[in-house]
Amino acid sequence: MNKEFSINNAKKLDKNDSLSYLRSQFNIPKFKGEDAVYFSGNSLGLQHKQFDKYFNIEIEDWKNIAVDGHFHAQTPWFDYHKSLAKDTATLVGAKENEIVSMNGLSVNLHLLLTSFYNPSKSKFKILCEPNLFPSDLYVLHSQVELRGFDPHQSLIFLPTNSYGVVDESELFQTIEKHAHELALIFIGGVNYYTGQVFDLQKIVQHGHNNGITVGFDLAHAAGNINLELHNWDVDFAAWCSYKYLNSGPGNISSIFIHEKQIAKKPFRLAGWWGHSESTRFLIEDKFNPIPTAEGWQLSNAPIFGLSVYRQSLELFNKLGMKVLIDKRNDLNIYLRRAILDLNTISQNFQCKIITPLDSNHQGAQLSILLRNKGKEIYSYLTKHGVYVDWRDPNVIRLAPVPLYNSFEDIAKFYNIMLKCI
Ligand SMILES: *Cc1c(COP(=O)(O)O)cnc(C)c1O
Repeated sequence: MNKEFSINNAKKLDKNDSLSYLRSQFNIPKFKGEDAVYFSGNSLGLQHKQFDKYFNIEIEDWKNIAVDGHFHAQTPWFDYHKSLAKDTATLVGAKENEIVSMNGLSVNLHLLLTSFYNPSKSKFKILCEPNLFPSDLYVLHSQVELRGFDPHQSLIFLPTNSYGVVDESELFQTIEKHAHELALIFIGGVNYYTGQVFDLQKIVQHGHNNGITVGFDLAHAAGNINLELHNWDVDFAAWCSYKYLNSGPGNISSIFIHEKQIAKKPFRLAGWWGHSESTRFLIEDKFNPIPTAEGWQLSNAPIFGLSVYRQSLELFNKLGMKVLIDKRNDLNIYLRRAILDLNTISQNFQCKIITPLDSNHQGAQLSILLRNKGKEIYSYLTKHGVYVDWRDPNVIRLAPVPLYNSFEDIAKFYNIMLKCI
């Protein structure tokens, strides 16, 4: 056993960590009376102890003034989504008129592709990453089919190494090579399987130089990496709020549409909440959209979900992504060193970290490929209070999150691993 990964040493690292005070603000799942090691914040973020700060207000307003809450709640429900706009925009580097929170993520991807996937007979293909999240694959397939093209001939997958990681120079070559037939580039900002972070700004540049629209699924990016969607000239993006953004299971998604794209007034599926606010309740025979991303809203907003997301966004912006990213990198380096050390200790445990090494190409998540005893190790971990997740054929994903994970979590993981490898 290496002293670097002793519980005592990890506790020292936690003491020197200026963000360690945040952990006690979260509810950490327990294992045998102690804090479990929670490395699944990339799937479902933990609950903040004040998650209900705004939620409670909405419950009370509903109880006390019911329908009057639409205009007379403390934060009127009529445009409740606006109370999240500033913090959401700051988090992803957007202007307030470019974002809105609504629906679930997959629904929003459909709405965005309806507006921004504009295939023609010669240019109808979509460039995407391999190891697409299943929902994204189904969304793309069905959108392609809806426009009358064959899904199995319309997606171009980026080439990868044998571990599923994309070489960026090949990525740009692939864009050039297929430019004549691409209608869209649609990529996850952080791949959910490998944890690879893409250079989004460069992808946009290459796309736009070739006349191709570029959109991103930021489910694993929002609250994890630095985003400057407006300045990078991203055409559109969407993300969910329940992974790194801790706003609760299945909670609301947000979208970004660049103001240049909004100005072009593309076709969108319409609903009353996207209609001009001054005439929303009149009976008009023509849809008159709000001239911002809000013009893509369909339904009146789910206030309870928004209220939880609102509290979370506030916390993120009070802290700022910069300090979170610094700690994220420190945790990540420590976890990498721990895993490499385990590799030297046991012949049985031969694992390969497939997530790229440099800090520009990784976020909180490390994906490790287990060459030996993969399922046994996974099941040992889950039975000993370590939350990680398994992806076939033999990958475990671990995501120490800077808001609530500690160096001690990593040391505990290391010491539990020592017993099973
Ligand atoms: C988590 C995730 C989703 C989930 O979609 P929902 O509509 O929120 O269920 C979709 N795409 C990616 C890439 C994800 O990581």
